[in-house]
Amino acid sequence: SKVFLNGEIVDSNAAKISVFDRGFLFGDGIYEVMVQLENGIFYKNAHLQRMQDNLKKIGIAHDIAELDSQIPTLLHACQLEDSPCLIYLQVTRGVAARKHAFPSEAKPTAMMYALPYSLPHINQKNMKVVSMEDKRWHQCDIKSISLLGNVLANQSAMVQNTDEAILVRDGFITEGSHTNIFFVGKEKVYTHPANHHILDGITRRVVIDLCQELQIPLFEKAIKIDDIPSMDEAFLTGTTTQIASVGQIDNHVFYQSNTIGKTTKKLQEAFAKLKELNADT
Ligand code: PLP
Repeated sequence: SKVFLNGEIVDSNAAKISVFDRGFLFGDGIYEVMVQLENGIFYKNAHLQRMQDNLKKIGIAHDIAELDSQIPTLLHACQLEDSPCLIYLQVTRGVAARKHAFPSEAKPTAMMYALPYSLPHINQKNMKVVSMEDKRWHQCDIKSISLLGNVLANQSAMVQNTDEAILVRDGFITEGSHTNIFFVGKEKVYTHPANHHILDGITRRVVIDLCQELQIPLFEKAIKIDDIPSMDEAFLTGTTTQIASVGQIDNHVFYQSNTIGKTTKKLQEAFAKLKELNADT
């Protein structure tokens, strides 16, 4: 398959990155994941804008417009221009002698790949998730490629035979290892505010907008781990997860069998409709 690397489309086997790339040495870079549906890339502009904002936050001068303009070329090279697929983008600070501070003359390394990937109309899974301490740093708003905290949390969830790790900081639930989390209590929807303790997911924002449209009261307010028993529903959001019902957190069971909560279902259906309407936006 073909990948995009530093301005060129190359065979993935021939794509080479220096061992002195700061992405490799320091995890000094950011990434983005988006999906192309039958009718276009879902919320492409929001993903690219978040990437541009992230680059600015970490002081990498790179114009995302260059990557944007090369997406059709990449998809064409991969024979995916008209097919559902996943598009991964990454920019690192580039190649330089290993010193922590920013090098004065490094050129950012920009890479993109695409893979066939199709999303179900609605994610029918009822997730079982496990809570654990959020041991990550305090800049989770940056979509950093340094994902060790997320990797260790997700691995811990996997070995406990669960679907996702739910992270808890100072008693408050922040997000999942690669998802945002929402709760529903007494017909009201809650999710952690978009601050430095979570990634402000594009799907999260879409769901917030859907709540407004559907006139479901939505509060960007963190939920305490101890408040879970007072909640009626929970669900995860993410680009590849879409909206996934949570049936169980630790020992707290929201639903017996395969029931999906009323509000979760309503949002899943509205989200599915949005995908049908949405072209490249
Ligand atoms: N939170 C974390 C830590 C993530 O890594 C992700 C996505 O990868 C999300 C939330 C969901 O973000 P989005 O909806 O933009 O995919």
